[in-house]
Amino acid sequence: MFINFQALGCRLNEAELETWASQFMQYGHQVTNDAGEADIVVFNSCAVTAQADRKSRQQIGRLQRANPAARLVVTGCHASLQPDAVKNYLGVDLVIDNKSKEQLVDRTLQLIGDKAGAGASVEPDFDGALNALLQRGRHRGFIKIQDGCRYRCTYCIVTLARGDERSRSEAEILAEIRRLHRQGVQEIALTGVHVGGYGSDIDSSLYRLLSEVLEHSDIPRIRLASVEPWDLPDHFFELFDNPRLMPHMHLPIQSGCDSVLRRMARRCRTDEFARLVDKARGAISLFNITTDLIAGFPGESEQEWLQTMKFIERVGFGHIHIFPFSARAGTKAAGLPGQVDSATKKARSREMHELAAQLKHRELRRHLGGRVQVLWERQCGGDGTQWTGYTPHYHRIVSHDPQLRASSISTVTIDAVSADGAVLVNRALQPQVTLADFGRHAARG
Ligand code: SF4
Repeated sequence: MFINFQALGCRLNEAELETWASQFMQYGHQVTNDAGEADIVVFNSCAVTAQADRKSRQQIGRLQRANPAARLVVTGCHASLQPDAVKNYLGVDLVIDNKSKEQLVDRTLQLIGDKAGAGASVEPDFDGALNALLQRGRHRGFIKIQDGCRYRCTYCIVTLARGDERSRSEAEILAEIRRLHRQGVQEIALTGVHVGGYGSDIDSSLYRLLSEVLEHSDIPRIRLASVEPWDLPDHFFELFDNPRLMPHMHLPIQSGCDSVLRRMARRCRTDEFARLVDKARGAISLFNITTDLIAGFPGESEQEWLQTMKFIERVGFGHIHIFPFSARAGTKAAGLPGQVDSATKKARSREMHELAAQLKHRELRRHLGGRVQVLWERQCGGDGTQWTGYTPHYHRIVSHDPQLRASSISTVTIDAVSADGAVLVNRALQPQVTLADFGRHAARG
């Protein structure tokens, strides 16, 4: 059978797709990137914002219309928060909530009457399987290390959709990393819901897991996906002395004002966050910090917003994901007084986007003249002769070197920053090149 995998939302959703794809391939099924030709479509949905919820519903409708004959399996946060509604969506054959994701492959094989896999007792030997990740045109393996979160940030629906913290064993994670490396994957990113809470339920920790991965695997590049800016030990950044651990962390700050952080029930105040960033930059020069920020949280006064703008400018970030506050039914924040009107949310998001672009340009200029190892991912640019990839600091870079290949790693000089200040450039390419150039090529696929 041909199986198509789709996901919306976070890296964790992507990591789960990779695991399922490998498992289905082990039972003799094939991965297709075309939902229109698939016998089964697996959709890992998202509900982090009202917009993501809407997009998930629309995507399910699109998948059903694109291939009414296919079996449609829906999982993820949108399906977990409203399983009965999703069960009644046209064309949905199976709904798997987040807590039952480990059984997704089994239950799907039962759905199609595939005895081979359903309830198979033997541990599948993934080595034989072609790497689903590369087959899907991806070059970075997202490794799920844990699920769930013990905290209750007042705006967060994820903690409700994904449940309590549960960690995968170090041995399981190491085996998956080694397998991906054997299959040609050069880079992995450790992901979860509360990555910093890894090991809280199995007498381990993120620090210990990273030490194990650095010591007992040979994969050249190791990244961390989003990590809440707390629960990290003082000596955490020593790990980055190992050049295989990429000098970038995504630390969601959400607001740069302590009174707003209190209403969000966040476990980190601005001074603690600034100290954490100083530690990272003290450990590794040009350490890249990126973040998430909510604009227009309930009760956010003009004064509080100005504090946030000042704090963000003071810290400086390589990239900022900016979200206008989205009230999620079932969260405390949805019921808080002083809901901010959408025009103000839009205006504050726009202001933050402008500041974020300046900070990114400033950050990229610091790398000019440097020599960096890049994992090249795909061709881009108008005529397809350019390649794009990421530096260890997780900055996008382009090069005009026809020798490059997907999933290859090479060392290049950073000659320029693109005209729109968004991308690093390696020689032979005119600074006029902008991010839009990639978009056009990427859109063509
Ligand atoms: S720590 Fe993260 S996942 Fe947990 S409740 Fe807060 S925002 Fe949600």
